[in-house]
Amino acid sequence: MHLATPLLFILMALLPNQKPEWCRNLPRPEYNKLKRVPVPDPWFEVYRIRPGVFAIYEPHQQEEVISYLVLGNKQAVLFDTGMGISDIRKVATGLTKLPITVLNSHTHNDHVGDNWRFSAIYGMDLSFSRQNAKGSTADAQAELTAGSICGELPAGFAATSYATRPFHITHWLHDGEKIDLGVRVLTVLSVPGHTPDSIALWDSANGLLFTGDMYYPGTIWLYRPETDLDAYEASIKKMMDLKPRPTLLLPAHNVPVADPADLPRVLSAMQQTRSGKIKPVKSDGKSIYEFQGFSFLLSK
Ligand SMILES: [Zn+2]
Repeated sequence: MHLATPLLFILMALLPNQKPEWCRNLPRPEYNKLKRVPVPDPWFEVYRIRPGVFAIYEPHQQEEVISYLVLGNKQAVLFDTGMGISDIRKVATGLTKLPITVLNSHTHNDHVGDNWRFSAIYGMDLSFSRQNAKGSTADAQAELTAGSICGELPAGFAATSYATRPFHITHWLHDGEKIDLGVRVLTVLSVPGHTPDSIALWDSANGLLFTGDMYYPGTIWLYRPETDLDAYEASIKKMMDLKPRPTLLLPAHNVPVADPADLPRVLSAMQQTRSGKIKPVKSDGKSIYEFQGFSFLLSK
């Protein structure tokens, strides 16, 4: 090997404009059709998906997490608070003057990062949620590994002390609970699988189903010990069986719009995966099962 080659690689890795692989193809094409709402914080991109429904997207970190601000005429729900790398509360309070209640699609670190900034947080009464509400450092730090950030971290962000801060759950949710925002009612659906505390939000009058991490177009993480694949299948079925039929899925990663017709495809893909019909690609000791438009990352 020529001596200059490794040197060249090192130099290229150090160049600030050398983008990590995952962000070279951003923006994803789905965003071209969406209405962008300007916000002052460059860490976030905000899109108006429907009247009173905003997607708050974090495209500069590999999770590409999406939180949702949903408005009624009396109150607002913020469905997830994102990474906690910048201040989502400032963005949300810039979009509405209504009182904001936080609900989490589940309590993985990338969805509860800014919970600590809010005083009204509704959560599931489960030991998994109670444990995650205590905060953690390891999961947050893992979000900053080499190649995870695309572009600039916010000015003043302290990477070495980045952690998921503890938060206080102020109300315990139950399956089927209705949250009346005034002119808009959201139904909480318990959809365990990805985690035991996963919930979807169902705005039946408008056909909107906020799916959290139960479904998004991309690699769906289903390898952690808290994942339960029997529950996952049952919860996908539960979302498929909703009446009236959802007209739009609003997932928690990658893109804020997906086709409800994906749900039966996900169920069938999971059944094929579990019956051994699909040969996985091995990656980092885990298995990826590829399908059209999404894949499953399983422990084996
Ligand atoms: Zn998750």
